[in-house]
Amino acid sequence: MNVSVVLYTSDLRVHDHPPLRAALGQGNETVPLFVRDSAVDRAGFAAPNRLAFLADCLAGLDTGLRERGGRLVVRSGDPVAEVCALVREADADEVHMAAGCSAFARRREDRLRRALEAQGRRLYVHDGVVTALPAGAVTPSGSDHYAVFTPYFRRWSGERLREPLAAPREVRVPPGIRSEDLPSRAAVPSVSPGLATGGEQAGRRRLTAWLGRAADAYEERHDDLAGDATSHLSPYLHFGAVSAAEAVHRARSRGGPGADAFVRQLCWRDFHHQVLAARPGAAVDDYRTRADRWRRGKEAEADLRAWKEGRTGYPVVDAAMRQLAHEGWMHNRGRLLAASFLTKTLYIDWRAGARHFLDLLADGDVADNQLNWQWVAGTGTDTRPNRVLNPVTQARRYDPDGAYVRRWIPELAGLEGAAVHEPWKLPGLERARYDYPDPVVELQEGLARFRHARGQD
Ligand code: FAD
Repeated sequence: MNVSVVLYTSDLRVHDHPPLRAALGQGNETVPLFVRDSAVDRAGFAAPNRLAFLADCLAGLDTGLRERGGRLVVRSGDPVAEVCALVREADADEVHMAAGCSAFARRREDRLRRALEAQGRRLYVHDGVVTALPAGAVTPSGSDHYAVFTPYFRRWSGERLREPLAAPREVRVPPGIRSEDLPSRAAVPSVSPGLATGGEQAGRRRLTAWLGRAADAYEERHDDLAGDATSHLSPYLHFGAVSAAEAVHRARSRGGPGADAFVRQLCWRDFHHQVLAARPGAAVDDYRTRADRWRRGKEAEADLRAWKEGRTGYPVVDAAMRQLAHEGWMHNRGRLLAASFLTKTLYIDWRAGARHFLDLLADGDVADNQLNWQWVAGTGTDTRPNRVLNPVTQARRYDPDGAYVRRWIPELAGLEGAAVHEPWKLPGLERARYDYPDPVVELQEGLARFRHARGQD
């Protein structure tokens, strides 16, 4: 009987999993493997919230495999060395894995392919596992990727996605393969108290519930900060506990304006992945430089600290930052406001903000985080790179009665209605009752500085 290995990375599920189905082939035995990669820890990507969510996802995957007669094998170290050792141990002749989009993932694939070939074994890399449509599957004429979302969305919408695959009925793992204990969420320190529970089972329940009812209001309410009417599927998609392709199929067959709007957001995810696949350097370098000379020094550092702590004096920005700290997740409108405030009002380098998000977000993803940050900073794919979101106007529009701000800023809970968005307007004595900082900068001053820096004045 043939034996194969499935190397799991950002695809921690048994449903709609092409590498697992291919590895099982016609009744083959297979070793489902996850390697805790020490390079991920060294690169600073092992943030507590993601480690905790990952632990849930690995437990969920192990459960899914056990329900089918298999189990997950976990090892730690360099994935290439670990896979090669396991292949020898299990006498496997092939390895299957999902294609990744980042430079890190590409290097891992290349190294693994070469190492396996040197042993006379083959690596099969499967596209369209991490994203709905494989990165690079569609390109405009004259370029290797789409740099603008709308034409990409038009093209993407016309493409046929592969049909979702059912979970295998049976997974047979050869006997005697050693595994480390699964990492435990309880052992991870400093996890955000409101972090969601990860795992394929939780993710699938959420997707089903979302498509069952909640998605109806999505088109109208997705920007309503207090309403919190979005799917919260991002960390499950990031770890691949939910398949993006399956989510698109299920949303399309459900239909309706809410489901359509949801599919459009999933396309944003694919869009950023195809940009990163073509321009891996955009994880750290400006995608389109604006020759920014971002603020540095003591004052900028103090402003960055105030932003991280949710103490900028702009309640909607602070509420979003505190939601991030508490939940390891932030509403998309909050992300836009917090990122615009840091990069355009405070004129601080997008990389500092992206780093802080990656330190806390359970869905923190090199493609989605870095390229959304660049979009907001105007160094990315936004066709209006110098737009600035005014936190007060935006707060009045997306949190009209102030419920979101009061939820996250208890110091201001006594302020009613939209007055909570501008506490600095309160008369002196009343103002003094609230233990909440003054704005770190006047909006007009920030705007003038930004316009000057970008040569817009
Ligand atoms: P929904 O509104 O329910 O959308 C469904 C899914 O579509 C999301 O789960 C996500 O996978 C995808 N999606 C939605 N909007 C975007 C978008 N703009 N870009 C890419 N995918 C999108 N998303 C991440 O998954 N990881 C990140 O690290 C991340 N960092 C961000 C940083 C900034 C500065 C900004 C402005 C946005 C960022 N986003 C990121 C995108 C977006 O904010 C989140 O995907 C969304 O808020 C997750 O909530 P949800 O699952 O309820 O989304």
